[in-house]
Amino acid sequence: MDNYLQKKLNEAVQIERLIDTAVKLIGIPSPTLSTKSVADKLAEILEEDDFRVKRPEANWPESPAVFVTYDSGQPGRTLQFDGHLDTVHLPYVEPRVEKGKLYGSGASDMKGGIAAMCEALRIIRDTGLLKSGKIILTAHDHHEAPWGDGRQVKALIEEGFVGDGVLIPEYHCESLPVLGRGMAILEVSIMREGLPVHEVQGGTGTTLSHSSRSKSHHQVYGIK
Ligand SMILES: [Zn+2]
Repeated sequence: MDNYLQKKLNEAVQIERLIDTAVKLIGIPSPTLSTKSVADKLAEILEEDDFRVKRPEANWPESPAVFVTYDSGQPGRTLQFDGHLDTVHLPYVEPRVEKGKLYGSGASDMKGGIAAMCEALRIIRDTGLLKSGKIILTAHDHHEAPWGDGRQVKALIEEGFVGDGVLIPEYHCESLPVLGRGMAILEVSIMREGLPVHEVQGGTGTTLSHSSRSKSHHQVYGIK
Protein backbone atom coordinates (compact mmCIF):
# COMPACT_ATOMS: atom_id res chain seq x y z
CA MET A 1 0.00 0.00 0.00
CA ASP A 2 1.43 3.40 -0.86
CA ASN A 3 1.89 6.13 1.75
CA TYR A 4 -0.96 8.26 0.42
CA LEU A 5 -3.49 5.45 0.75
CA GLN A 6 -2.22 4.44 4.16
CA LYS A 7 -2.41 8.02 5.43
CA LYS A 8 -5.94 8.52 4.10
CA LEU A 9 -7.18 5.28 5.63
CA ASN A 10 -5.50 5.93 8.99
CA GLU A 11 -7.02 9.40 9.16
CA ALA A 12 -10.48 8.00 8.49
CA VAL A 13 -10.42 5.52 11.39
CA GLN A 14 -12.54 6.73 14.30
CA ILE A 15 -11.12 5.05 17.38
CA GLU A 16 -14.06 5.89 19.65
CA ARG A 17 -16.54 4.45 17.12
CA LEU A 18 -14.41 1.33 16.78
CA ILE A 19 -14.23 0.80 20.56
CA ASP A 20 -17.93 1.52 20.94
CA THR A 21 -18.73 -1.25 18.42
CA ALA A 22 -16.44 -3.71 20.21
CA VAL A 23 -17.92 -2.88 23.64
CA LYS A 24 -21.48 -3.34 22.32
CA LEU A 25 -20.60 -6.78 20.92
CA ILE A 26 -18.70 -7.91 24.03
CA GLY A 27 -21.63 -6.64 26.13
CA ILE A 28 -23.76 -9.52 24.85
CA PRO A 29 -22.68 -13.00 26.02
CA SER A 30 -22.49 -15.39 23.06
CA PRO A 31 -21.10 -18.84 23.83
CA THR A 32 -20.99 -21.16 20.81
CA LEU A 33 -24.49 -22.14 19.62
CA SER A 34 -26.02 -19.09 21.42
CA THR A 35 -25.10 -16.16 19.20
CA LYS A 36 -28.52 -14.92 18.10
CA SER A 37 -28.57 -11.81 20.32
CA VAL A 38 -25.09 -10.67 19.36
CA ALA A 39 -25.74 -11.38 15.65
CA ASP A 40 -28.89 -9.21 15.91
CA LYS A 41 -26.81 -6.48 17.58
CA LEU A 42 -24.16 -6.59 14.84
CA ALA A 43 -26.88 -6.38 12.17
CA GLU A 44 -28.41 -3.39 14.01
CA ILE A 45 -25.04 -1.59 14.26
CA LEU A 46 -24.40 -2.07 10.52
CA GLU A 47 -27.92 -0.98 9.59
CA GLU A 48 -27.52 2.17 11.67
CA ASP A 49 -24.44 2.82 9.53
CA ASP A 50 -26.63 2.57 6.42
CA PHE A 51 -25.38 -0.80 5.24
CA ARG A 52 -27.93 -3.24 3.86
CA VAL A 53 -27.70 -6.37 5.95
CA LYS A 54 -28.74 -9.87 4.89
CA ARG A 55 -29.29 -12.69 7.38
CA PRO A 56 -28.66 -16.04 5.66
CA GLU A 57 -29.63 -18.98 7.87
CA ALA A 58 -26.70 -20.96 6.51
CA ASN A 59 -27.57 -24.26 8.15
CA TRP A 60 -28.14 -22.69 11.56
CA PRO A 61 -31.62 -21.10 11.74
CA GLU A 62 -31.28 -20.63 15.49
CA SER A 63 -28.94 -17.75 14.69
CA PRO A 64 -28.81 -16.54 11.09
CA ALA A 65 -25.42 -15.22 9.97
CA VAL A 66 -24.72 -11.55 9.19
CA PHE A 67 -23.80 -10.56 5.63
CA VAL A 68 -23.04 -7.15 4.11
CA THR A 69 -21.72 -6.12 0.71
CA TYR A 70 -20.01 -2.87 -0.21
CA ASP A 71 -19.72 -2.58 -3.99
CA SER A 72 -17.37 -0.05 -5.63
CA GLY A 73 -19.59 -0.18 -8.72
CA GLN A 74 -16.70 -1.29 -10.94
CA PRO A 75 -15.90 -4.89 -11.86
CA GLY A 76 -13.15 -6.58 -9.90
CA ARG A 77 -12.36 -9.12 -7.23
CA THR A 78 -14.11 -9.49 -3.90
CA LEU A 79 -12.31 -9.21 -0.57
CA GLN A 80 -14.10 -10.83 2.36
CA PHE A 81 -13.84 -9.93 6.04
CA ASP A 82 -14.94 -12.94 8.06
CA GLY A 83 -15.34 -13.48 11.79
CA HIS A 84 -17.04 -15.73 14.31
CA LEU A 85 -19.41 -14.25 16.88
CA ASP A 86 -19.25 -17.15 19.32
CA THR A 87 -16.92 -17.33 22.30
CA VAL A 88 -15.60 -20.30 24.24
CA HIS A 89 -17.66 -21.55 27.19
CA LEU A 90 -15.88 -19.71 29.99
CA PRO A 91 -17.51 -17.54 32.71
CA TYR A 92 -18.73 -14.30 31.13
CA VAL A 93 -16.66 -11.12 31.67
CA GLU A 94 -18.24 -7.68 31.06
CA PRO A 95 -16.49 -5.31 28.63
CA ARG A 96 -14.23 -2.57 29.99
CA VAL A 97 -11.47 -0.33 28.65
CA GLU A 98 -8.57 0.19 31.04
CA LYS A 99 -5.34 2.05 30.32
CA GLY A 100 -5.93 1.79 26.60
CA LYS A 101 -6.70 -1.93 26.65
CA LEU A 102 -10.01 -3.62 25.88
CA TYR A 103 -11.10 -6.44 28.20
CA GLY A 104 -14.09 -8.80 28.29
CA SER A 105 -15.33 -12.11 26.91
CA GLY A 106 -14.29 -12.46 23.30
CA ALA A 107 -12.40 -9.14 23.23
CA SER A 108 -9.58 -10.69 21.25
CA ASP A 109 -11.27 -13.87 20.06
CA MET A 110 -12.79 -12.21 18.17
CA LYS A 111 -15.26 -9.39 18.78
CA GLY A 112 -12.46 -6.79 18.70
CA GLY A 113 -11.64 -8.12 15.23
CA ILE A 114 -15.28 -7.98 14.15
CA ALA A 115 -15.45 -4.36 15.32
CA ALA A 116 -12.33 -3.70 13.22
CA MET A 117 -14.08 -5.32 10.22
CA CYS A 118 -17.01 -2.92 10.67
CA GLU A 119 -14.72 0.10 10.99
CA ALA A 120 -12.74 -0.96 7.90
CA LEU A 121 -15.98 -1.27 5.94
CA ARG A 122 -17.10 2.20 7.08
CA ILE A 123 -13.87 3.91 6.14
CA ILE A 124 -13.59 2.13 2.77
CA ARG A 125 -17.06 3.39 1.92
CA ASP A 126 -16.64 6.88 3.36
CA THR A 127 -13.26 7.58 1.74
CA GLY A 128 -14.32 6.19 -1.65
CA LEU A 129 -10.82 4.74 -2.03
CA LEU A 130 -11.97 1.36 -3.38
CA LYS A 131 -11.91 1.82 -7.14
CA SER A 132 -12.94 -1.65 -8.27
CA GLY A 133 -14.44 -4.86 -6.91
CA LYS A 134 -16.33 -5.43 -3.70
CA ILE A 135 -15.91 -5.93 0.02
CA ILE A 136 -18.14 -8.42 1.79
CA LEU A 137 -18.48 -8.96 5.53
CA THR A 138 -19.62 -12.26 7.04
CA ALA A 139 -20.08 -13.13 10.73
CA HIS A 140 -21.34 -16.44 12.08
CA ASP A 141 -21.72 -18.99 14.89
CA HIS A 142 -20.39 -22.55 15.28
CA HIS A 143 -16.69 -21.75 15.27
CA GLU A 144 -15.35 -22.83 18.65
CA ALA A 145 -14.76 -26.58 18.99
CA PRO A 146 -15.80 -28.89 20.53
CA TRP A 147 -19.19 -27.12 20.97
CA GLY A 148 -19.55 -26.04 17.35
CA ASP A 149 -18.87 -28.00 14.19
CA GLY A 150 -18.15 -25.21 11.70
CA ARG A 151 -21.41 -25.80 9.85
CA GLN A 152 -22.40 -22.15 9.41
CA VAL A 153 -19.24 -20.95 7.71
CA LYS A 154 -19.26 -24.05 5.48
CA ALA A 155 -22.89 -23.35 4.49
CA LEU A 156 -22.06 -19.69 3.79
CA ILE A 157 -19.31 -20.78 1.42
CA GLU A 158 -21.55 -23.37 -0.27
CA GLU A 159 -24.30 -20.77 -0.72
CA GLY A 160 -21.90 -18.33 -2.38
CA PHE A 161 -21.32 -15.89 0.49
CA VAL A 162 -17.60 -15.97 -0.11
CA GLY A 163 -14.92 -13.69 -1.54
CA ASP A 164 -11.89 -14.26 -3.76
CA GLY A 165 -9.70 -13.69 -0.72
CA VAL A 166 -10.51 -13.59 2.99
CA LEU A 167 -9.13 -11.58 5.90
CA ILE A 168 -9.87 -13.04 9.34
CA PRO A 169 -8.91 -10.50 12.03
CA GLU A 170 -8.12 -12.79 14.94
CA TYR A 171 -5.67 -11.94 17.69
CA HIS A 172 -2.19 -11.64 16.33
CA CYS A 173 -1.57 -7.99 17.15
CA GLU A 174 0.80 -6.62 14.55
CA SER A 175 1.79 -9.77 12.72
CA LEU A 176 -0.02 -11.08 9.65
CA PRO A 177 -0.10 -14.90 9.77
CA VAL A 178 -0.05 -16.51 6.36
CA LEU A 179 -0.10 -20.13 7.57
CA GLY A 180 -1.70 -21.94 10.50
CA ARG A 181 -0.96 -25.23 12.20
CA GLY A 182 -4.59 -26.33 11.87
CA MET A 183 -6.47 -28.39 14.42
CA ALA A 184 -7.53 -32.01 14.85
CA ILE A 185 -10.14 -33.36 17.27
CA LEU A 186 -9.84 -36.99 18.28
CA GLU A 187 -12.56 -39.00 20.00
CA VAL A 188 -11.19 -41.96 21.91
CA SER A 189 -13.31 -44.79 23.33
CA ILE A 190 -11.68 -47.15 25.81
CA MET A 191 -13.49 -50.39 26.74
CA ARG A 192 -12.85 -53.45 28.89
CA GLU A 193 -14.81 -56.58 29.73
CA GLY A 194 -16.94 -56.84 32.89
CA LEU A 195 -19.24 -54.60 34.92
CA PRO A 196 -18.50 -50.93 35.63
CA VAL A 197 -16.51 -50.54 38.81
CA HIS A 198 -14.96 -47.62 40.70
CA GLU A 199 -11.26 -47.33 40.10
CA VAL A 200 -10.32 -47.50 43.81
CA GLN A 201 -12.34 -50.69 44.42
CA GLY A 202 -11.54 -52.83 41.44
CA GLY A 203 -7.99 -53.74 42.23
CA THR A 204 -5.36 -54.08 39.58
CA GLY A 205 -6.34 -56.01 36.50
CA THR A 206 -10.12 -55.45 36.86
CA THR A 207 -10.44 -51.74 36.24
CA LEU A 208 -8.89 -48.94 34.25
CA SER A 209 -6.04 -48.66 36.71
CA HIS A 210 -3.76 -45.70 37.13
CA SER A 211 -1.00 -47.38 35.15
CA SER A 212 -3.28 -48.28 32.23
CA ARG A 213 -4.79 -44.78 32.23
CA SER A 214 -1.34 -43.32 32.16
CA LYS A 215 -0.40 -45.67 29.32
CA SER A 216 -3.52 -44.65 27.33
CA HIS A 217 -2.72 -41.00 27.95
CA HIS A 218 0.76 -41.48 26.53
CA GLN A 219 -0.59 -43.41 23.55
CA VAL A 220 -3.13 -40.69 22.75
CA TYR A 221 -0.87 -37.69 23.34
CA GLY A 222 2.06 -39.41 21.71
CA ILE A 223 0.32 -38.98 18.36
CA LYS A 224 1.91 -36.06 16.67
ZN1 LIG B 1 -11.42 -17.30 17.26
